[in-house]
Amino acid sequence: MEYVDLRSDTVTKPTPEMRKAMAEAEVGDDVLGDDPTVNRLQQKVAELLGKEAALYVPSGSMGNAVCIRAQTRPGEEIVTERFAHVVNYEVANAAAISGVQTNTIDGTNGIITRSQIEPCLRMESLHTPGTRLICVENTHNRAGGTVFPLVEMKGIKSLAEEKGLRVHLDGARLWNAHIATGVSLSDFAACADSVSVCFSKGLGAPIGSCVAGSREFIEKSIRVRKMFGGGMRQVGIIAAAALYAVENNIERLAEDHTNARYLAEELAAIDGVELDLETVQSNIVIFDVSGTGKTAPEVTEKWQGLGTLALPISTSKIRVVTHLDVTFEQCKQAIKMFKEVVGA
Ligand SMILES: *Cc1c(COP(=O)(O)O)cnc(C)c1O
Repeated sequence: MEYVDLRSDTVTKPTPEMRKAMAEAEVGDDVLGDDPTVNRLQQKVAELLGKEAALYVPSGSMGNAVCIRAQTRPGEEIVTERFAHVVNYEVANAAAISGVQTNTIDGTNGIITRSQIEPCLRMESLHTPGTRLICVENTHNRAGGTVFPLVEMKGIKSLAEEKGLRVHLDGARLWNAHIATGVSLSDFAACADSVSVCFSKGLGAPIGSCVAGSREFIEKSIRVRKMFGGGMRQVGIIAAAALYAVENNIERLAEDHTNARYLAEELAAIDGVELDLETVQSNIVIFDVSGTGKTAPEVTEKWQGLGTLALPISTSKIRVVTHLDVTFEQCKQAIKMFKEVVGA
């Protein structure tokens, strides 16, 4: 059966055009700085983000880990939102690899503000760890793809400057925040010292992320990446897919957002489904099905039987994600199947 696959925007497969770009990529030893395709990708991403330099890494988790390790010392503290990807879905790498403690703040739809963060900052003393880094996530995955508003990001950046701290932006889906708001990638990125972006989510590449920042930060990150085992050789072969994705697949994210909006509005109208349309701002929709009398895993199992794949994220909540391998027509089919599952 050919499924409508709404589990994640990571499920996309490279298109024939992308594979052609990969097959024809010029390559070299990237650990020696010799891969022209990687260099072109890094240059392009640095330009888009308005940073001095960028560095290609194998995954978003490694990107965040490199940024945290390069900007902290063991025993220091980082501040982030409670449901941030860096503390929930990266196997505690900040603690395990960088040796930092995480101070998490309850946000609203993933957003934390300057005034919430300020009282949580700590000066290094005989008893306390010093706060070194503030991490923000845009768009926010667990909150349902919500956009971290530019004005809030600016507030955090100015606080960090006043206190001599650094800001890291987990921008795995910063592309989506840009398309959802019209705010440029570089305006968002200007609010952070380090940024990580993913090519393997909505942009549709099979692998890879970049981190970006000052030249000094990237010099340091090259060593950290090597320490983590992320130095790669003729990696232009996959960087070509990322370059193709950045050049061709950013603007089309608008289509994914339209499809997500459609799914959200249809789902919200179904009896027993609880869904906050306010949180549907990009390509992710999270909704509660407890009112249908079924648990989320029961619903997703039945939905799968009819041909739609989705992930339960708790006993009552389901997440669906739109991406370039899902058409509007398929979204309509998914809704039809969902109505059958819950008897609507
Ligand atoms: C996907 C994602 C990452 C990185 O995940 P990988 O699977 O390691 O590439 C980081 N942050 C957010 C917000 C994500 O959604």
